[in-house]
Amino acid sequence: QENDDDGGTRPGASAPPGAGPLAGAGPLAGRRAIVTGGASGIGAACVRELAAQGAFVVVVDRDAEGAGVLAKEVDGEVWAVDLLETGELEDLALEADILVNNAGIQVLSPIEEFDPADFRRIHTLMLEVPFLLMRAVLPSMYRKKFGRIINVSSVHGLRASAFKAAYVSAKHGLEGLSKVAALEGGPHGVTSNCVNPGYVRTPLVENQVADQARVHGISEGEVLERIMLTESAVKRLVEPSEVASLVGWLASEQAGMVTGASYAMDGGWSAR
Ligand code: NAD
Repeated sequence: QENDDDGGTRPGASAPPGAGPLAGAGPLAGRRAIVTGGASGIGAACVRELAAQGAFVVVVDRDAEGAGVLAKEVDGEVWAVDLLETGELEDLALEADILVNNAGIQVLSPIEEFDPADFRRIHTLMLEVPFLLMRAVLPSMYRKKFGRIINVSSVHGLRASAFKAAYVSAKHGLEGLSKVAALEGGPHGVTSNCVNPGYVRTPLVENQVADQARVHGISEGEVLERIMLTESAVKRLVEPSEVASLVGWLASEQAGMVTGASYAMDGGWSAR
């Protein structure tokens, strides 16, 4: 964050790139990564994966405590921020080689009962914030002629699901934004891709079980089998570390020709 002169939280102020525990030891040594929603679930797994590959990682989350514990574990940095306060992001300039747009929330409701405030909140966090963060990191990536933007989309970025109007439409929007960033970034050495997990074993999914039971009119016991596993040929939830390994590869030097793509990790769901 180059233009923060108020003495507040300053991602980038406390440690140089490559200062993580494995600095110099892995393929991402010397790289600086920013992971939103990095305190939990898929984001936390991405933080660990990128750090294990030698990157210096900034854990961005509104959960300051969780982010702090993880940043300490990987010798990274915390940026404790509620990303819905988008005013904080509008004039931001961030030094980063890797941006993982991951923070997300879920609200289930039929459209006619969907609270417009929830719809806006989801679109802000899952579409506008990735745009604002791309805007903040791209100038430094273009200068260095290297950048990796990895957008944690969902199987719902490519396929719809009832009762998820805001989530599905925000993720579909993120797919489009990711492709535009790929086209603009290509000549500058910057790639932009989506990863599209099916149901992943995280707090977001665990908290969804009761909501799914309510909107579909089935018991909580039936939700996992009927909603979450039916679509998967592999018949299990995805593990956060599995998504993180794909993110780690997309961040690598070797993935330079992979851009504007969307990678399913859904146990075969989208093959149906
Ligand atoms: P999670 O709930 O475990 O973690 C989300 C993190 O984002 C939390 O640490 C939370 O504090 C943070 N966060 C939420 N709102 C924030 C805000 N306003 N400002 C800052 N931080 C905020 O969720 P998860 O399951 O790991 O999901 C991460 C991403 O993966 C989301 O974009 C989600 O849509 C996507 N995804 C999840 C699944 C799944 O099954 N879990 C499947 C496909 C895609």
